[in-house]
Amino acid sequence: MSGNQTFTMIKPIAVKKNHIGPILHMINEAGFRIKAMKFTHLNKQQAMEFYSVHVGKPFYEELTTFMSSGPIVAAILEKENAVEDFRKLIGATDPAKAAEGTIRKLFAESMSHNAVHGSDSDENAIIESDFFFSKIDRY
Ligand code: ATP
Ligand code: MG
Repeated sequence: MSGNQTFTMIKPIAVKKNHIGPILHMINEAGFRIKAMKFTHLNKQQAMEFYSVHVGKPFYEELTTFMSSGPIVAAILEKENAVEDFRKLIGATDPAKAAEGTIRKLFAESMSHNAVHGSDSDENAIIESDFFFSKIDRY
């Protein structure tokens, strides 16, 4: 059975371009409930740890430099079938391939500067949520 929780980040480029409000609006309109939220700034080490699943890939250095280049919004979201439904809402990793009306289609600049993160499995949603939030920060 699929879980009811996913984890997201609004990435530095979208924060810089003042897209926090419109992106959160889309997330709420799509039926997700915010269970935890934080405005923070990852350092390079933290970005490398968060994306450690991608160690060794050609884009790892660029990705972790970008993710530590400015503040982000991190959040835990709740909804039935959260992981899959959220990946649908954000669209494909490459914004050029993302469906019309998706968050990445609307707000991403490029594959590497792609506006939002979304967990890719229930297991990773839990790991990623635990990376940012303790139990008492969840409502
Ligand atoms: P995210 O994990 O950020 O939600 P994703 O799950 O759609 O994105 P992943 O395969 O996990 O995609 O890649 C993580 C991030 O690394 C992507 O968001 C993207 O910015 C970057 N990335 C992935 N593949 C490439 C690539 N081929 N070239 C450049 N950047 C890439
Ligand atoms: Mg991913």
